[in-house]
Amino acid sequence: HKAELAKLVTQQTVTADGHHVELAANIGSTQDLAGVLENGAEGVGLFRTEFLYMGREDFPTEEEQFQAYRQVLEQMEGKPVVIRTLDIGGDKHLSYLDMPHEMNPFLGFRAIRLCLDNQELFRTQLRALLRASVHGNLKIMFPMIATLEEFRQAKAILEEEKKGLQASGTAVSDQVEVGIMIEIPAAAMMADQFAKEVDFFSIGTNDLIQYTMAADRMNERVAYLYQPYHPAVLRLIHQVIQAAHAQGKWVGMCGEMAGDPVAIPILLGMGLDEFSMSAASILPARQLLGRMSREEAAKHTNTVLSMSSSHQVEEFVQRTFG
Ligand code: PEP
Ligand code: MG
Repeated sequence: HKAELAKLVTQQTVTADGHHVELAANIGSTQDLAGVLENGAEGVGLFRTEFLYMGREDFPTEEEQFQAYRQVLEQMEGKPVVIRTLDIGGDKHLSYLDMPHEMNPFLGFRAIRLCLDNQELFRTQLRALLRASVHGNLKIMFPMIATLEEFRQAKAILEEEKKGLQASGTAVSDQVEVGIMIEIPAAAMMADQFAKEVDFFSIGTNDLIQYTMAADRMNERVAYLYQPYHPAVLRLIHQVIQAAHAQGKWVGMCGEMAGDPVAIPILLGMGLDEFSMSAASILPARQLLGRMSREEAAKHTNTVLSMSSSHQVEEFVQRTFG
């Protein structure tokens, strides 16, 4: 079994009916790259940059960040690398950054909200990213986008920093795609409008599920409501994929759900383009996808979307694809 998986390391991910999907890895630091390469990832679908900021006494400098981003881009040798701007707040805090005490941190001052409010912090990271962009295939992604205004503001700041660097003679790639995480139901509902302005979406199901079901992802008492296969969640995901494709944009998923063997047949059928997961899940997912037909899976999309419970969906998938 292990030897069979090992054979897949150097292969692309192709379904039984010949469709290519991209299997990428989630990373938290440059130390995760060894595992990414060993498991044959076709890219990095999510670099959670908050870990660069954690476990230290002060903000990482622009230069420190540049070195880390460059290292990831170089080691991936031209494969796509999606780097997410700082997603701090919620459950993640920095000892050196004063944060307000909040009643509902997951509904509070977090991620892009904090970055748009603390622009020096944000601009420093964007400059480091733009400088690194000439060393590989960089895509920049903003987390926790709820409104179009937030995206436009973040993009405008990025453009300003790009112009500033160019004016000072620093090389910046002009191939950098700029996308957003879809992890807030409002953004999923407005995906058709976002799709006209972004280059790509990556669906963050860890948060999208908690916000859709109103069930804190850290709270054991309500864990029974945290249901990845609930049709409410699946309808949002489907809508996002449809909206992106209608505008010719690609859609990935970087939440835990992307590596889940029960979810994969549903997501493949819906047309998801990129699946990003922990490195250890990549080869099993490649094997699973290689045995599946996308056309066949697509025939079940409407059935699944019309079901009334998570339990029903799970049972159906196991019966149909198991
Ligand atoms: C998500 O919300 O699905 C996600 C990938 O981001 P994080 O888990 O870092 O919140
Ligand atoms: Mg998230």
